[in-house]
Amino acid sequence: MEYNVIIIRFGEMSTKGKNRKDFIFKLAKSIKRNLLGFNKIYTMDVRHDHIYLYINNIEEFDYTPLTNISGINSFSLAKKVEVFELEDLVNYGFDFIKEENGNTFKVHARRIDKSFPYSSDEINRAIASKVLKNTTLKVDVHNPDILLSIEIRSDGAYFFTKTIKGIGGYPIGSTGRILMMLSGGIDSPVATYLLMKRGVEVSCVHFSSPPYTSQGVIIKLKDILEKLNLYQEKINLYIVPFTKIQEKIYEISPEGYPITIMRRMMYRLASKLANKLHIVALAAGESIGQVASQTLESLRAINEVTNLPIIRPLSTYDKIQIIDISKKIETYDISIRPYEDCCTIFTNKNPKTKPHLEECRKIEEKFDFEPLLDEAIENINKVVIEQETN
Ligand code: ATP
Ligand code: MG
Repeated sequence: MEYNVIIIRFGEMSTKGKNRKDFIFKLAKSIKRNLLGFNKIYTMDVRHDHIYLYINNIEEFDYTPLTNISGINSFSLAKKVEVFELEDLVNYGFDFIKEENGNTFKVHARRIDKSFPYSSDEINRAIASKVLKNTTLKVDVHNPDILLSIEIRSDGAYFFTKTIKGIGGYPIGSTGRILMMLSGGIDSPVATYLLMKRGVEVSCVHFSSPPYTSQGVIIKLKDILEKLNLYQEKINLYIVPFTKIQEKIYEISPEGYPITIMRRMMYRLASKLANKLHIVALAAGESIGQVASQTLESLRAINEVTNLPIIRPLSTYDKIQIIDISKKIETYDISIRPYEDCCTIFTNKNPKTKPHLEECRKIEEKFDFEPLLDEAIENINKVVIEQETN
């Protein structure tokens, strides 16, 4: 069936009561931005329950960007026909089914406009009986090869056989802002994607330890964020100079503790930055038990230094699941580029899986870290990564 309209469904956000208007507005904006190259080819009709894109030249139009927009649960490629007589519905319905491949079919009509004089059941039966009479197709109500859906609205009938899943979630920016700790590894970009998909506007912070870590890491981060621009058009990356603090940590920490202390310092810095940016939550890519610094005891020792909520989207994910997503969002190949990050550069023998809080506090008393943290915050380098507009 050659479609002339796309019906976009919102899914979860339909339940969001009074925020709904704002959500739909943000989603419409997202769609416009993602379909920038096609703006002369479609017109958008935003309604309270769906968004319709009327396409005036399907040959030049590509709907794939819709599969990457958070807030879209699914969409259907439909044909809108201005018919209001049962006989016309039957003829169109029959033509549509005839064009499809398969042995079994089902017709699923819905009257959105209740003033239409025939019930959905009558429409279904009328179309099915013409199909049964004129083809070898059989009805299968549970698992049909061809499912023809028809929505009868006051402005016409919408026929469709093809529904495509979106990524779901909420429109970007509709659920607040977060400061994400971005390393160059596989996990944190995936966590960032999951947050964006949930509608969170993400800013990123990276702790950089030149000359121990190379400029290659920063290039890597920019490349990763360019991939994530697909979901959020503009991403701020804050690069925090971490060398001095890190050297100090390794100077004073006994065996087993540098990683824990380092992560406590990272969280302290992230909290200070978040406060400055008026951001109320932090996020990171940890997964329970993945490494020594990600045991529950370690997470407790790390969390102690901040009172901001910390969202860890991957906390229950397996590495295989994480890798699958990173391949899907195309960050995997960038993440595995061989640059050292500040966690791997300093040798760390036998990291503690159960660091003691008291011990952490005692180690930290050995140096006056607050001025160092403030100095690092003063010297942050901000980079804005933006979607290229075409
Ligand atoms: P990733 O693949 O995201 O690097 P990982 O499995 O290597 O994760 P860790 O190195 O222990 O795990 O880091 C855990 C989390 O801490 C990361 O997912 C990231 O959110 C944060 N993190 C680690 N290093 C940095 C860094 N240099 N700058 C910013 N955040 C960092
Ligand atoms: Mg890492």
